[in-house]
Amino acid sequence: MSRLVVVSNRVGAAKSSRPASEGGLAVALRAALQERGGVWFGWSGKVLASDYETPSMAEVGNITYATIDLNQRDYDDYYKGFANSTLWPLFHYRLDLAEFSRKTWAGYQRVNAHFAHRLQPLLRDTDTIWVHDYHFTLLAENLRSAGCKQKLGFFLHIPWPALPILAALPMHSEIVKALCAFDLLGFQTDEDLWCFQDYIRREAGGEVGKNGIIKAFGRVLRAKTFPIGVDTEVFAKMATESEGSKQVERLQKSLNNRDLIIGVDRLDYSKGLINRVEAFEHLLTTYPDNRGNVVFLQITPPSRGDVSDYVDIRHELEATAGRVNGTFAEYDWGPIRYLNKSFSRRVLAGFHRVSKVGLVTPFRDGMNLVAKEFVAAQSSEDPGVLVLSRFAGAARELDGALIVNPYDTEGVAERLQEALTMPLKARQDRWQSMYQAVAVNDVTTWRENFLQALKRGGRAR
Ligand code: UDP
Repeated sequence: MSRLVVVSNRVGAAKSSRPASEGGLAVALRAALQERGGVWFGWSGKVLASDYETPSMAEVGNITYATIDLNQRDYDDYYKGFANSTLWPLFHYRLDLAEFSRKTWAGYQRVNAHFAHRLQPLLRDTDTIWVHDYHFTLLAENLRSAGCKQKLGFFLHIPWPALPILAALPMHSEIVKALCAFDLLGFQTDEDLWCFQDYIRREAGGEVGKNGIIKAFGRVLRAKTFPIGVDTEVFAKMATESEGSKQVERLQKSLNNRDLIIGVDRLDYSKGLINRVEAFEHLLTTYPDNRGNVVFLQITPPSRGDVSDYVDIRHELEATAGRVNGTFAEYDWGPIRYLNKSFSRRVLAGFHRVSKVGLVTPFRDGMNLVAKEFVAAQSSEDPGVLVLSRFAGAARELDGALIVNPYDTEGVAERLQEALTMPLKARQDRWQSMYQAVAVNDVTTWRENFLQALKRGGRAR
């Protein structure tokens, strides 16, 4: 079995003795690295005032963790700039928020070239290299021009946008051409894959053949769908254990038998949070029996607070949640508990388990792992109902959810009411089919499917 090299923006902790405290993806990648031996390469998370140092290396068993720091200019241009203020909004269909500048593009090119330059000496000829996400679209092209012949795979965790959206990016052609230097491209959903294929046919003048073969820019590669999963069994076990924990007991005591609706999202404009609060407001207006009897717990850890759009969305959300609470709260009941902090996945698992409804309403989301975790956390005897946006990748697999259009806040309120009043048998049937889906395609299956496809389908050089 060839050695595995994983490249991702953030690298899992070198000394993780408690894998359950990490996300399912980090655990799954670490397990693959342990099986094959290899290198996990990425940004250290540190920003230096001075210039680059050589990568920091830590050996744990048969895994080498290699991380590099960024200097302030590269952090501003590459990370905060092109990655998070251009690609992220654009790929989430927020053309109105995407910023275009030659300066940040140059920073993105510079950091991709620099990472490739630092990675290359760590590689062996027989390695398999798996690059993750929108930070590193140019990495394969940089590695190839330095003479790398290894198999190179890329998985995009976020959506791939439709052609007219992508075409607004001045450097769309450079990015797609660079992606074609990989041997295998993985997307979350068929829709993402079709959008990519559409670009190849209509914009790049390339060909899309059988079995995902792409011919474009003088290169041959494969592009396929690999919907990411969660660590279903581990998460389900955590949820059962966590149900008896101090935190969950406190939560339940505070609810006093009221029904709980839960939302868990990074504070991001792609998550549809304001519309979600407005949908909940419609619920209280249209179905007044819920007043005093339902609590909406929205857990929203802040993220990317140095990008101004994230500051704006935070203010708007605070104002909206505050207004709804001001309108409906009573001296012994508050409708919305809006929390601006993060919780461990263990605690979240317990919170999900005691919730009547999981409310997941992004405008766009590559997959949305929270939706799958909510399903994994439910009890088979008395499962909660998932209300899920059609624009989350997870909606393709979770057909037992109540699928909603997050822009239609009145429609979301109707489905919320349906979820809150759904008879037990219907809840069980819906949950069964969703649990089956998340159990079969868990994060380990996802990882192995991708690596198998890379092994089979990579071009011989
Ligand atoms: N998460 C967490 N603590 C929190 C909020 C979220 O551990 O307070 C985890 C959550 O359980 C999930 C991940 O962060 O595993 C979020 O993944 P998702 O795909 O839903 O959204 P993203 O943040 O990647 O856009």
